[in-house]
Amino acid sequence: MSLMVAKHAGFCFGVKKAIEIAEETALKSKEKTYVYGQLVHNERVIEDLQKKGIEFVENIDDIPENAVTVLRAHGEPGTTYKKLKSKNIDNNNNLKDATCPLVTLVHNVAIKLKNNGYEVIIFGKKNHPESIGTSYHIKGKDTFIVEYPEDSGSVIEHINKNNFGKVAIVSQTTMSVNGYDKLIQNINKNFNDKFEQLSLNLKDMGKNFVFVDTICNPTKQRQSDTEEIAKKADVMIVIGGKNSSNSKELAAKSKEFGVQTYFIQSVEQLKEEWFNNKENIGVTAGASTPDITINEVTDRIKEITSM
Ligand code: SF4
Repeated sequence: MSLMVAKHAGFCFGVKKAIEIAEETALKSKEKTYVYGQLVHNERVIEDLQKKGIEFVENIDDIPENAVTVLRAHGEPGTTYKKLKSKNIDNNNNLKDATCPLVTLVHNVAIKLKNNGYEVIIFGKKNHPESIGTSYHIKGKDTFIVEYPEDSGSVIEHINKNNFGKVAIVSQTTMSVNGYDKLIQNINKNFNDKFEQLSLNLKDMGKNFVFVDTICNPTKQRQSDTEEIAKKADVMIVIGGKNSSNSKELAAKSKEFGVQTYFIQSVEQLKEEWFNNKENIGVTAGASTPDITINEVTDRIKEITSM
């Protein structure tokens, strides 16, 4: 019997940094610290920070004037900064921005493409704060977001209907690498293979139909490790927050290999019968899962299986 734990599992540097910023801000501030939205998509992390006196608000109107405020790792549209500024909260005054630099990179890529005449389309989740934030840097609510590779037809329809001569596709940082490949393949199948890859440094913007690989490296590492383990495992445990896009992608990736996969948030959800007659057990975790949760899960699996 073996227990395989993904080498890259749990917090990525962007999530670690966001938590550090929130904790340090709350520690130094004499006033209450507000975080706009879920700082990271993990319920336990949020509860821990709430215990440290941090208040999470979903509605920006609930942040009082002059309040010490932290912005989440997923990035925000310009409208958020404007609204906060009207409350006298900005970078010079009480605002700590925990946006991950790799999300900012996607914003910058999208803006540069737009400024060079491209209609920018996002491969991402329509309700995810990162895609919403990126879309506001392009065309606001009118930015076209495609969620699934199977929806490639809607991308072609959007291009043809509007007669766009230059189109660029970028991805939310936490999407599936295989899913992005599949989307481009599906589009190209019915679009005369027109879409070509443009490197992240955006050299050669003379091409009319391009896609840029903006999935972040920590997401890629977690996906490839999960793939490695899922190929060998009889059962896979994927740990991550319910709203965590990258964790859900890991569970989907594991299922692609036909292995029995359970997506859990905490050790309490493990069931002994999942491990009956299983020889090879795999464990992986999304980028917002704390080490303590991963360790609790692996310890409990060892206990159940008498490893
Ligand atoms: S998953 Fe990627 S983009 Fe998101 S916080 Fe982590 S490193 Fe940054």
